[in-house]
Amino acid sequence: MSGFGSALPWAEPSWYSGRPSPYYNDSHRRLREAVRRWTEENVSGNIEDWEAAGKIPDSVYQKCARDGLLLPLAFGSSIPKEFAACAIIGGIKAEQWDGFHDSALWDELVRGGAIASIFIGLTVGTPPLIRYGSSHLRGQVLPGILSGEKKICLAITEPSGGSDVRNLTTTAEKTADGKYYIVNGEKKISGNRKLIVTGGPGVTGISLLLIPRSEGIRTRPLSVTPGNLSATTYISFEDVRVPVENLVGIEGSGFKYIMNNFNHERLWIVFQALRGSRIAIQDAMTWALKREAFGTTLIEQPVVRHKFGLMAKEIEALQAWTEQIIFELDNLSHDDGNRLLGGVTALLKVKAGMVAKLVADECVKIMGGLGLTKTGQGARIESFARATASIVIPGGAEDVLIDLGVREALKLTHMATGRQPKV
Ligand SMILES: Cc1cc2nc3c(=O)[nH]c(=O)nc-3n(C[C@H](O)[C@H](O)[C@H](O)COP(=O)(O)OP(=O)(O)OC[C@H]3O[C@@H](n4cnc5c(N)ncnc54)[C@H](O)[C@@H]3O)c2cc1C
Repeated sequence: MSGFGSALPWAEPSWYSGRPSPYYNDSHRRLREAVRRWTEENVSGNIEDWEAAGKIPDSVYQKCARDGLLLPLAFGSSIPKEFAACAIIGGIKAEQWDGFHDSALWDELVRGGAIASIFIGLTVGTPPLIRYGSSHLRGQVLPGILSGEKKICLAITEPSGGSDVRNLTTTAEKTADGKYYIVNGEKKISGNRKLIVTGGPGVTGISLLLIPRSEGIRTRPLSVTPGNLSATTYISFEDVRVPVENLVGIEGSGFKYIMNNFNHERLWIVFQALRGSRIAIQDAMTWALKREAFGTTLIEQPVVRHKFGLMAKEIEALQAWTEQIIFELDNLSHDDGNRLLGGVTALLKVKAGMVAKLVADECVKIMGGLGLTKTGQGARIESFARATASIVIPGGAEDVLIDLGVREALKLTHMATGRQPKV
């Protein structure tokens, strides 16, 4: 068995060590190697400069496009045939691409460091446009998005509330001649430039609009916990004129489109939790093997070994559940995936947040003072510990998703038997 990456326990998913898995083949192995090489060449030495500048240069984003990263990040778990001629990192073919490529790509990008944060808008914002946008709209903006010239984001959350998507207050009123929507409101989101925004009260009042940067839009960067590279932005719309052709899909169907987008959005948050946890356990193990206290290394203390055992069983259980859900999503239609797995992916994301918090907490303790130090051997753990809230809240807050998971499960039982109460 030939291994790839770190040989320390739990530092890599088990399939990296050459152990058998039903999910991964040579193309996944090729991809993980290509992405790891790419991040080592293009990310590793630059993170401090980018963080100091508060931005990853646009030229890097465009390089991501040229090197075949943006296309798969925009599509997620499958790439349509019409993009067969486009280059994908690792030389993977569009028809080969599946949810496990998507997960391996994210896993290695997150491992590479800060770069993953610049793809949030692309990964969350492009799928609704691809799935529901008219061919005219797609033709107008997709080439620019895939070449890295233009950026996109999905703006749902408003200062007045995020979890309660039914009660968004941003409005989109049609002009008397029926040619434009006039948009007014405020959003707090990740990413900027080209925007998709929802507007209108109630479930059937919600629509998706593609809003280019234009007169009446003001943006202000927000400083957030995971760091400034995520480009979290406050946006206000004052009488912004949007051509009616920029409506994505059918007017009033935006709520359904947003809900259908959540399975993948929540999965990639899980990917971040998994790799973040593995990085933390790797650094803590490296430290525990050499740090001496009271005459022994830390790893020789049963209490410290107990911490690793606690973390490992959680990480590996999360990995196995995640792979099962990726497999199911790959083998279900998009509609069935949403119907059957919406609640499950919500709970998976909750689990990911809990695992990340546990791992961050235990690793900080193992590192001692280094776990609070932003440079040196504890730096990645310190940064992960600060960022766990960004796994717990975005993409649906933990408390809300736990409840959603149970309601969705009961809904399926009700549909199957007609007996359980609707809650
Ligand atoms: C780094 C970052 C990036 C983000 N990126 C985006 C983005 O790209 N696009 C976007 O639209 N948004 C984005 N968000 C916003 C994020 O999705 C919201 O913050 C999140 O959905 C929670 O909404 P809220 O902040 O309005 O909290 P609220 O809805 O006000 O909820 C706050 C708390 O109230 C409790 N609560 C509320 N409702 C319930 C309920 N029904 N049951 C139980 N408890 C409840 C929960 O404890 C919850 O945590 C981002 C946020 C951050 C920090």
